[in-house]
Amino acid sequence: MTDNVHAHEIYKFGSMAERWWDKKGEFKTLHAINPLRLNFIQQFISIEEKRVVDVGCGGGILTESLAQAGSDALGIDLSGDLIDVADLHALEMGVKTVHYQKIAVEKLAAEQPDSFDFVTCMEMLEHVPDAGSIVSACAKLVKPDGMVFFSTLNRKPKAFLLAIVAAEYVLQMLPKGTHEFKTFIKPSELCQTARTAGLELQGMIGIEYNPLTQRFSLGKDVDVNYIAAFKKTA
Ligand code: SAH
Repeated sequence: MTDNVHAHEIYKFGSMAERWWDKKGEFKTLHAINPLRLNFIQQFISIEEKRVVDVGCGGGILTESLAQAGSDALGIDLSGDLIDVADLHALEMGVKTVHYQKIAVEKLAAEQPDSFDFVTCMEMLEHVPDAGSIVSACAKLVKPDGMVFFSTLNRKPKAFLLAIVAAEYVLQMLPKGTHEFKTFIKPSELCQTARTAGLELQGMIGIEYNPLTQRFSLGKDVDVNYIAAFKKTA
């Protein structure tokens, strides 16, 4: 068991587990952005018949969609309640190429280094005590030349205004208290940490929200929420 976890974060997400797949519920934002992240990933690799691990998978929104797109997907999280919800949803949907495990990424990396064609870790780095340790473990899990994808929030005043003040308090798109500004990560910091772990940046894009159309899209603005693709250098 790793110490690289905030018990209150696991409790917070786990306590909303049963509403994870409600597209109008607390996690509607994750549902709304999921096709965009799938699209971004597919700009770099073909998903079919690839082995992927989704780190901090929650109730499996991305994991299950990766399996449905043809990969052999493993989702890991430290919330047992979320693993149960993810498992049950896959069962209900009849998705057979997805599996879930309650295990720390550092432990899985020690057990299965160089084993996955690609690794995804979305909206999770800002919820852990040591994001660098997660990045290193993701790098260890992927095969040489394999890809690792991260998404997180940028530590910019604009992200404070949009991702916390607007999204949590004004528009109520996310539950209050979902995010804490000081945990946000600048793209330069993520790239530096990734480089130290042997990961080379391949591309980065912003996940933008238009309050008028109430739609998300991929775009140039990485000031709030962004997603980045890295390759493991041999
Ligand atoms: N990646 C998913 C869920 C994001 S919510 C998605 O984007 O759809 C953040 C998730 O990180 C929650 O499921 C929470 O339980 C998980 N989490 C937080 N700290 C963690 C840790 N140290 N190890 C594994 N998962 C963690």
